[in-house]
Amino acid sequence: MAQDVLCEVSNCKYNKEGKKCGADQIFVVSHKGNKAHNSEETDCKTFEPGM
Ligand code: SF4
Repeated sequence: MAQDVLCEVSNCKYNKEGKKCGADQIFVVSHKGNKAHNSEETDCKTFEPGM
């Protein structure tokens, strides 16, 4: 289980100081079904616009 999720998306409402994710859990999805070839093909679906 991931303990510390680092994230650079500063305008997400869950993003905290030090590029940390404050969400209880996150859901990472692939752009192409349930598989990905590299990190560029994945995204955080838990993102919600904040500040
Ligand atoms: S919910 Fe996703 S986009 Fe938002 S801070 Fe956490 S990892 Fe980043």
